[in-house]
Amino acid sequence: MLYLYQAFRELVLENVFKFYKNIPVVNDLSFAIAPGEIFALLGPNGAGKSTTIRMLTTLTKPSQGHLEVAGYDVVKQPIQAKQSIGVVLQQTSVDGDLSVWENMELHGRLHHIANPQRQRLINQWLEYVELADRRDDLVKTLSGGMKRRLQIARALLHRPQILFLDEPTVGLDPQTRRRLWEIIRDLNKQGMTMLLTTHYMDEVEYLCGAFEGTRPGRIGIMDSGKLITLGTLQQLRSAHGEGLVMKQLGIAEAGNDSARRWEYLFFPSLEEANTYLNQQPDKTGMMVRSSNLEDIFVELTGRQLD
Ligand code: ADP
Repeated sequence: MLYLYQAFRELVLENVFKFYKNIPVVNDLSFAIAPGEIFALLGPNGAGKSTTIRMLTTLTKPSQGHLEVAGYDVVKQPIQAKQSIGVVLQQTSVDGDLSVWENMELHGRLHHIANPQRQRLINQWLEYVELADRRDDLVKTLSGGMKRRLQIARALLHRPQILFLDEPTVGLDPQTRRRLWEIIRDLNKQGMTMLLTTHYMDEVEYLCGAFEGTRPGRIGIMDSGKLITLGTLQQLRSAHGEGLVMKQLGIAEAGNDSARRWEYLFFPSLEEANTYLNQQPDKTGMMVRSSNLEDIFVELTGRQLD
């Protein structure tokens, strides 16, 4: 039974804590990801998302708890764990003074991938992210989107089972973000398990959406080191309310806080939200619409996204 449980758990956190100066920045966190799943971790700044990813990728040790990737205990088997994951983090950026190929070559050597397979894989992944024609260019001459694509190609070189993406499209223009989304979706379609963090709700709605017959990804919202909700977008909408009445507050109620200009009232369905609106004697400044991920995020964390 235990074996079966393990087999369906590609990535596991059990009662994980991380303390900094006795303060739990990750506070009794538990969740698991199935093979081939795409999972988005959301949360306001300081929620503990990066610390969680840093623990899972062996960059920092947990204070307490069990972490597992691809069947390996992250603390006890860090080498095997590292072999089975690819990481695209802000801080693992590519070296600007090396060429595209040199960056790939260095990573391939670090992972002891022998030639000719190393060259074959470098070519394959550079083709995949459409950087083959830039292989001899210095990385510092590439655009932001190209650098991110190179990071992805590099992270895939040693054929990991799980890919970690920490805010993969931050600071990129809309077209470049779309291109990266397509790459991420495609890799997931090929069976790659993915854990990503992002601040962009549209990114989550796209990447964790169900289309082309694929299973939708799941979304975990963290706040103050804890997971405060978990599920597919549809599950979150069902749990928190699919219909929304927005009510504009007057200056007296909202004060100078622009984030509080609207009061949100959630209803199980759009129909019930409409019924509520129709019952109001004065409908001035009120509107009804379907709830979205951002509404749920703001409702749960009490914070607007920045
Ligand atoms: P997020 O990625 O959700 O923005 P982080 O995991 O980066 O959150 O940070 C969670 C909390 O832990 C923050 O309050 C941050 O200041 C604190 N923190 C993160 N790293 C360290 C560190 N190395 N030393 C002390 N505090 C840290």
